[in-house]
Amino acid sequence: METDTIAAISTPIGEGAIAIVRLSGNEAITIANQFFQGRDLTKVDSHTIHYGKIIDPTIDQVVEEVMVSVMRAPKTFTREDVVEINCHGGLASVNRLLELALQMGARLAEPGEFTKRAFLNGRIDLSQAEAVMDLIRAKTDKAMNVAIKQLDGKLSKLIQRLRQELLETVAHVEVNIDYPEYDDVEQMSHDTMLLKTKEVHQEIERLLQMAKQGKILREGIATAIIGRPNVGKSSLLNALVHENKAIVTDIPGTTRDIIEEYVNVRGVPLRLVDTAGIRDTDDIVEKIGVERSRQVLKESDLILLVLNYNQELTEEDIQLFKLVEDLEVIVLVNKTDLAQKIDLEKVNELVKGHPVITTTLIEEKGLDELEAAIAKTFFSGELEPGDLTYVSNVRHIQLLKQALAALDEAMNGMEANMPIDLVQIDVTRTWQLLGEIVGDTIRDSLIDQLFSQFCLGK
Ligand code: GDP
Ligand code: ZN
Repeated sequence: METDTIAAISTPIGEGAIAIVRLSGNEAITIANQFFQGRDLTKVDSHTIHYGKIIDPTIDQVVEEVMVSVMRAPKTFTREDVVEINCHGGLASVNRLLELALQMGARLAEPGEFTKRAFLNGRIDLSQAEAVMDLIRAKTDKAMNVAIKQLDGKLSKLIQRLRQELLETVAHVEVNIDYPEYDDVEQMSHDTMLLKTKEVHQEIERLLQMAKQGKILREGIATAIIGRPNVGKSSLLNALVHENKAIVTDIPGTTRDIIEEYVNVRGVPLRLVDTAGIRDTDDIVEKIGVERSRQVLKESDLILLVLNYNQELTEEDIQLFKLVEDLEVIVLVNKTDLAQKIDLEKVNELVKGHPVITTTLIEEKGLDELEAAIAKTFFSGELEPGDLTYVSNVRHIQLLKQALAALDEAMNGMEANMPIDLVQIDVTRTWQLLGEIVGDTIRDSLIDQLFSQFCLGK
């Protein structure tokens, strides 16, 4: 097992004022003790916090006042000895602390290395480790909540429950076959088995439906702003960026990435798309042709179509409406500070139920309504991440799809009255595929599990 001690700056989520240098490994406590002035950290109890000063031993100078947490293995995130040095200073003083830790023998942690250790030491399962990586990439609070939920093991628990249900079915059949004389165990019929697998099938389907939402949270909503020249597209872009700064997070072992093309609208991450220059395109059709524009626009999750209140609708406007017909569109009627020349009744006909917002972008008016409309479009009602488990990881989605296919096979077999021991091959395969999501190897033989479940063989 790896034993060297790693260190990195890790700032807790939502507590911007405090910065933390975290150390993990066998030498974490002795290293920190070398530049900490206060209690002897090697003698304090585990999971205690101590006030003291950080000194630079090479020049014998006080650098910073800090609070130091000492947490001994194994009850820590990495299951190694962990020391966290909390300081209120800015980036410069945190960097100084990190430098000192490195001078005293710690190694700079690689991105994700704390998490990797937690996984290798059995502290978290694979889906949780992946959640930490998602957390690092999360661009808004909502995306972060989803990752945190997964980190809590919510997805793991759900997957494990589904696996358990499948395993019970398989075990039941197995017992029926191996112990036909065993009357205590009722015969598993095709009907009962079908009922059980249907439940699991529904749950997997639901998870896959949620996956799309997860993708949006993680990667941002690809957003294109379109409209005729001079309607206010650039003004809209500027207003959105001005009002909603993208948030950035720091997680153990990572460096700060500033992603400028993201704006955070009420927790919804908008990724302002610039494919083929359509981020702000005066005449997309003329630029790349009808077919290509349709193609490009189709790749957007959201289209903001801007119209001019001060001008009559033109052929071009109508063409744009046609172009986005079956896409997610919010229409902005801009420049309402000027005289009305647009036919709003005609607009309402053309939008076919999509939201229409009136704005005066020059005064940043109407942005609240626009933001509300965006939030409503992407997080209507039940789609609050608060109470749902999202799957946002590509590997998980792949495995869920395979599991669903295997389960479909099994259910087809049951409906066709195939011998139950053949059907259960597909059920077992589903169980294995789900197991790969949480990183379970199939080390315990199925038979062992069967007997532990039914308490036979005593
Ligand atoms: P784009 O060509 O669609 O990107 O349009 P711009 O955002 O560059 O805006 C074109 C002109 O319209 C600029 O002079 C803006 O200041 C002006 N403009 C934008 N929004 C409004 C508005 O709400 N009211 C008025 N009166 N002018 C606006
Ligand atoms: Zn422009």
